[in-house]
Amino acid sequence: MEIKLVSPFDAHLHLRDGDLLKTAAPISARAFAGAIAMPNLTPPIASLEAANAYKARILAHCGEPFELVAAIYLTPALAARDLEGVKIVKLYPIGVTTGAESGVTDIDRYDRLFGAMSDRGAILSVHGETNGEVLAREAQFAPIYENLAKRYPRLKIVMEHISSIALVNLLDRYENLFATITLHHLLYTLDDLLGGRLNPHLFCKPIVKTAADRGALRKLAFAAHPKVSFGSDSAPHLRAAKEGASGAAGVFSAPVLLPALAELFEAHSALGALQAFVSDNARRIYGVAPAEKIVTLIKRPTIVPDEIGGVVPLLAGETIAWSLA
Ligand SMILES: [Zn+2]
Repeated sequence: MEIKLVSPFDAHLHLRDGDLLKTAAPISARAFAGAIAMPNLTPPIASLEAANAYKARILAHCGEPFELVAAIYLTPALAARDLEGVKIVKLYPIGVTTGAESGVTDIDRYDRLFGAMSDRGAILSVHGETNGEVLAREAQFAPIYENLAKRYPRLKIVMEHISSIALVNLLDRYENLFATITLHHLLYTLDDLLGGRLNPHLFCKPIVKTAADRGALRKLAFAAHPKVSFGSDSAPHLRAAKEGASGAAGVFSAPVLLPALAELFEAHSALGALQAFVSDNARRIYGVAPAEKIVTLIKRPTIVPDEIGGVVPLLAGETIAWSLA
């Protein structure tokens, strides 16, 4: 049995820089036709110039054609005049995740910028969490999404890596709200992270939540809800950074994404929705047109390596029922 996917697209990807980029870039370029690269490097990718330079560094390691959109980090210095040629601006509330130290505090300050983005058709991508209690952070951000959606009705706003029922419920309430969903939020709950022995490789922001939250996300994914794109949020950290006394947030899922999604969708009789979930929706929502690339998945078990380039991938050591051809 095999599945052919046309131009899979990862709408939320962390490729890092330097040696980690060398490891991560070819893995995503092999399985996907393109991706949106997130800008939370140190220093952040905060201008079109920096984004273009980063894009060139990424493409140098891809080894094959890859349609790349580099998002621009919304720092307090970003102004409407900097938007020329910018497709996606990423908003991190300050301090909420890896590399969010340069993020924003007062969202109301960006009225002119958001207005200009609406006029130009630029997309606002948001890490929607507050600095509140860890399980409530996303739900606490819901009113901020609602404010933005109402105030800028022509601005496309992407609620990134949604992980809770609170945000699932917002999706259809505002025409201009969209979302991405990761593989790990479809697979896991808090019990997998810390119900038995602590598994630092499942620790991410936003944190995986309850079975009810996961169920609501699965419902969207298995129906390939037209306002939802697949965005892996794959984010490699070296083993020592994950397993040390202060474990970093981020899950390196890129090496397993399509086989693991095929296994999950098949188990829920949803294989028919996979093409739209991993490609068609994103191409429509973001207006991207990667060169056609047919990726074939075969029903043949793969054993996931324990480590790749010093990074422990998601599902390390486990067997997935599907493989990339
Ligand atoms: Zn991310």
